[in-house]
Amino acid sequence: MSLIDKYNREIRYLRVSVTDRCDLRCFYCMPKGFDGYEEPEDWLSYAEIERIIASFTRLGVNAVRITGGEPLVRKNLPELVSRLSALPGLDDLSLSTNATRLGKHAQELYDAGISRINVSLDTVDPVKFNEITQGKLEKITQGLLKAKEVGLDPIKINMVIMKGVNDDDVEDMVEFCMQNDFTLRFIETMPVGDTGRNAANYFIDLHEIEKRLAQKYELIPAVMKGAGPARYVQVAGTDFKIGFITPISQHFCDTCNRVRLSATGTLYMCLGDEHKYDLRPLIRKGISDDELDQVIRDAINLKPLKHEFNENPEKVVRFMSMTGG
Ligand code: SF4
Repeated sequence: MSLIDKYNREIRYLRVSVTDRCDLRCFYCMPKGFDGYEEPEDWLSYAEIERIIASFTRLGVNAVRITGGEPLVRKNLPELVSRLSALPGLDDLSLSTNATRLGKHAQELYDAGISRINVSLDTVDPVKFNEITQGKLEKITQGLLKAKEVGLDPIKINMVIMKGVNDDDVEDMVEFCMQNDFTLRFIETMPVGDTGRNAANYFIDLHEIEKRLAQKYELIPAVMKGAGPARYVQVAGTDFKIGFITPISQHFCDTCNRVRLSATGTLYMCLGDEHKYDLRPLIRKGISDDELDQVIRDAINLKPLKHEFNENPEKVVRFMSMTGG
């Protein structure tokens, strides 16, 4: 089976938000003092999430990334991981996290079936970290070391680059990741929600960062396991890889292979769009597996050709925490 959209793109990858809540407040994602969260009773249960993902795997999806908000603020997440890692056809199960709770949960996540993780980290300067996230850097570095210790691999660091905010931290982040065998990915700001639009004022084209790094390191083209859109280079003579995720300066929508499920069961066809389909009422009404598969096939036809971040930056109202990146 395969899930093909009307532009002949095969959907193989599902990003699943298990909560829109987070214990950090990255200024480009969630407004300070925000409390307009979904109510827990409106979240899909782990059994409902498993049911929906089982349908996607029947339709050919083989990669799932668990995300949030911050997924580890949701209780008993390893239970969901165990359920999903038992699904036939799902051969890539990963997690996006801000690592604040990784120190406590890394071992049980690994034992339950998470093999690799992506960690959002925009600076290794503790003062600047607090300014960007309202959080403490040491919790993150402790979590990362624990993740390494239990065997999560690869560990990919996602750094959102913002001009005049953290673009001067790039070299320090490269050194930090190189020393710890983490893979580093740079991400351009995106006008997702008012906070994202605000952050777009700090936009920097990542090709500039690549040129800057090429003056210090010999960079050669590279490839890396994963279902996402990052373009990788490698520092010659090392295994250290750097990825560039450039939705604004060089979008990758032509080869898009993913959709996103929110914590309340809404299927979003595109990060840069509001086309969506609410699966929860159907699940709670007792829809059959065959009917669910058909509903998902039909919903995929809502997927737009590409985002309109440049043409229409006002378009996406929701915050990034609703679906994760
Ligand atoms: S912006 Fe939309 S179409 Fe483009 S890569 Fe992201 S999800 Fe896919």
